[in-house]
Order: sequence, then structure tokens, then C-alpha cells
Amino acid sequence: MVQVPYLLPHGDGWRDVSYTVTVLGARGSIPTPGSGTIRYGGNTSCVSVERADATGRHLVVLDAGSGIRLLGNALASRGNGVEVDLLLSHTHWDHIQGLPFFAPMFVQGNVLRIWGARQGEVDLGAILRQQMHPVVFPVPLDESAADLGVNHIGPGTFEVEGFRVDAFRLRHPGNTMGYRLTPAGGGAVLAYLTDNELDGHHGYDVGPRWRAELVAFLEGVDLLVHDAMYTPDDVGEHRGWGHSSYAEAVALAAEARVARLMLFHHRPERDDEAMDGLLSAARAAARASGHDMEVLAAIEGMQLIL
Ligand SMILES: [Zn+2]
Ligand SMILES: [Zn+2]
Repeated sequence: MVQVPYLLPHGDGWRDVSYTVTVLGARGSIPTPGSGTIRYGGNTSCVSVERADATGRHLVVLDAGSGIRLLGNALASRGNGVEVDLLLSHTHWDHIQGLPFFAPMFVQGNVLRIWGARQGEVDLGAILRQQMHPVVFPVPLDESAADLGVNHIGPGTFEVEGFRVDAFRLRHPGNTMGYRLTPAGGGAVLAYLTDNELDGHHGYDVGPRWRAELVAFLEGVDLLVHDAMYTPDDVGEHRGWGHSSYAEAVALAAEARVARLMLFHHRPERDDEAMDGLLSAARAAARASGHDMEVLAAIEGMQLIL
């Protein structure tokens, strides 16, 4: 198992650190344990963002794929009193399947605020309850001991502890949100856009100005985490599935002039060697774009300080 160096430093200078971004799961669709995925990791989508300011520690979690279990285990050492704002991009399995295994949810005194969009007329709470319905899981959601709340959001702005959040509708089957996080009081900006089909397929309900609005949404972003599930070779046969190639992600990052792009939601079939190849091809595409940016591929356990 990947050891997540999760606990943040204390002492002098701590408050000068704006926030820490930790990748807990970088894979799309289904967990992929095994010898071929040791380096990039096999857990599904989960990224944590933590900062401390004069009012305390603030922990925001982006998606609850199987990687959230690692975070829960790391948080267990903090005992009770853990507060988490969990932002769900959407409710496909690979973005919620870790939630029933998120240990802090079962500890009295902890607080878990879940944010996300309705799917059609169906409440987020109803979807999460079904995932833990007795016919498929032994412990119902309503037996969680933590103080748990569900908040419905749509495109627009809301606030969680320590961050301003802007939400943007993505091109993906279902009602899927991308999030832009700005620390309260200012600082580096993070955008998390996974499960997003940048090009082709016109079956999404997003309006004709979607691309221009997306580029505007990303203005001033320091780190863009973006879906790069496919290569230019295999994206064509998956049009309408709601994902992008690394080349499309690089083109977006160049157009929006973001400083750093993290390729995310790796295809289950892509082993470590294939991921290395995808990353070098993406870096070559970035150099060819003429915009000076850093390109990374998400690796489970990777931490960045913004
Ligand atoms: Zn996904
Ligand atoms: Zn999805």
C-alpha cells in the first residue's frame, strides 16, 4: 500500500504554507491494484486539499473514490473533531465508492459536509444511501456516527471552510461539476476538472459558449487537475463517454494559460510504463503549444504545496 505522508508540518512557517494538495487516487473507472500499477497507483479519484489559517485547519476533499480510504486511515490518528468538506464531481461509482470505507464517518464528534449536484430529480443523499443499502452493503449511511450533511449545488459560487468554491458544469454523462478553489483571503488557485470531454460529441446540455466560458473559468489557475484518460489514438472510439485525451487537456491548459497541469483519471488499462509514455507525449505537446507550463501526471501519494 502507498504510504500517504498526510500529516502536515507544524511549527515555524506553517502558516506561510498556503495549502497542501494530496493525490489519494488517480485512476478512473475502477480500482486497478497489481504489479503493473504500483508507481501511479490503482485507487480511484480522490484528492485532498488542506490549509491552516488563524481560524484553524480546513480540509476539503475532492471526490470519494477508493483513495479516500487512505485519507480516512490517516485522519484516524487525529481522533474525533475532524471536519471535512467533501466535494463530489458526480456520482459515478469511481467517485463515490470509497465513501462507505471512510473511517471518520463512523466516529462521533466528526463532521462531514458533502457537496454535489442532484442527478436529474434524484437527491445526492438518496444516491449515497443506495450505495449503502442493506442489499449491497452491511452498514447503512444513516448509521454513521459523524454529523453528516448533504448540500446540493449547481454552477456558481459557494463557500466551504477556508475556501471559496466556484462550480462549473462539465461535458460528461450525468450532472457533473468541475470545481475551482481559492483560499479565503486569496492565494494560489486550484481547479479540479475530471470526467470532462473537451472535444467532439455534441450530446451534452451545456450551451454553445461552453468552451469560452470554461477558458474564462480557468483564468488565473495555478494548478489544473484535468481528465486525461485517453491518447489521441484511443479517444476517437470513446466519443460520448465523457473523457478527454492528454492532448486535449494540454490544449485547454495552453489556451487558459494555466501554470501547471496535472493529468488525472488514468485509464484502468494503462500500466506504469504506458503512463510514462503518455506523460512524455503530453510534455512534448505542451512544449509544442508555445505556452510555458509544467505538466505532471497524478501519482497516488503525490503532494504539492501551493
Ligand atoms: Zn470517473
Ligand atoms: Zn464519470
